[in-house]
Amino acid sequence: MSNYKIAVLPGDGIGPDVVKEAVQLLEEIGNQYNHQFEFVYGKIGGVAVDEAGTPLPEKTVEICKESDAVLLGAVGGPKWDNESPELKPETGLLGIRKALQLYANLRPVTLFSSLIHSSPLKREVVLDTDILIVRELTGGIYFGSPRERRVGEKGVEVIDTLFYTEAEMERIIRKGFELAQTRKRKLTSVDKANVLESSRLWREVANRVSCDYPDVALTHMLVDNAAMQLIRNPRQFDVIVTENMFGDILSDEASMLTGSLGMLPSASLGVEGPGLYEPIHGSAPDIAGKDVANPLATILSAALLLRHSLGLSEEAYAVEKAVEQALEQGFRTHDIGGEWERVLSTTQMGEVVRGNL
Ligand code: ATP
Ligand code: MG
Repeated sequence: MSNYKIAVLPGDGIGPDVVKEAVQLLEEIGNQYNHQFEFVYGKIGGVAVDEAGTPLPEKTVEICKESDAVLLGAVGGPKWDNESPELKPETGLLGIRKALQLYANLRPVTLFSSLIHSSPLKREVVLDTDILIVRELTGGIYFGSPRERRVGEKGVEVIDTLFYTEAEMERIIRKGFELAQTRKRKLTSVDKANVLESSRLWREVANRVSCDYPDVALTHMLVDNAAMQLIRNPRQFDVIVTENMFGDILSDEASMLTGSLGMLPSASLGVEGPGLYEPIHGSAPDIAGKDVANPLATILSAALLLRHSLGLSEEAYAVEKAVEQALEQGFRTHDIGGEWERVLSTTQMGEVVRGNL
């Protein structure tokens, strides 16, 4: 029997609704595969502002650092829209990412064939799409300094700086290669090397690192072309690795290929220490507490947690299969259901997936 400690941060809005189902699913995995999961709850986001006067209490950071992995719901909502920047729920999320030094953001984009009608793309284009986007999370233009706004001779002038070290590039590119080795062994490195100095270094580093992974086929692609190819022929991609801003944009674009926000999980990994797992959707305050939210993105995030932080790939696969099966059986929540007759509540969907394990 192995023991694992998991920090659970439900957060705001539908966060608690969907996290509850993922936790129960992990408990069921524990029963079936003989693992002991200890869940330790922490506050983050708006609930933490209300109860502790800060979106990221020190206690929460402690809980996370002492755990093998962190499962997070969502943060934010209209109630806290007018808070000052340091009291914004989202500040809590940025804070925990920073505290855990999470540098690699993984976003799998998998089209479940029974949901193919929700994709905006034609069936023959999008069928079997299964992409993993690996985005650098700690560097690039979002964090560069100097940043400046001043008034010059011709009016306002602004500066943002794109800064990366070679070491930051190397660790994320290596992560891309390692992940490609566990999949179809195809890595697309996305940059803008025809224009940017940072991208030229990125390409050099990718070529150098590729010597250590001779079993992975590396392709370079310019970001504008990549944006186009994701729509033209998404199936050509296996793993995509790219810097922070390109990854931000491409992963949102790619997420829409599957047509369903409520289905997509994410993982953020650090050098060592716990990874953080969360659905890509937000707190959806309009449907919070109504037992209608789709829990599958969070359940699939729990699968990523099993795979990437606990090394339990068989268990992760079992969860993904149980989700796929629920969809094949015709079960839907309202967001993916449309006019469907078998629309389930959050709780019911969680039960169905557990039953399929
Ligand atoms: P954020 O700024 O936190 O990303 P947002 O307002 O951009 O939040 P979401 O909170 O992700 O976006 O939700 C947008 C809409 O999508 C919601 O109002 C909700 O109707 C729907 N939605 C999001 N997640 C789910 C889910 N898990 N199940 C069902 N519907 C969802
Ligand atoms: Mg949003």
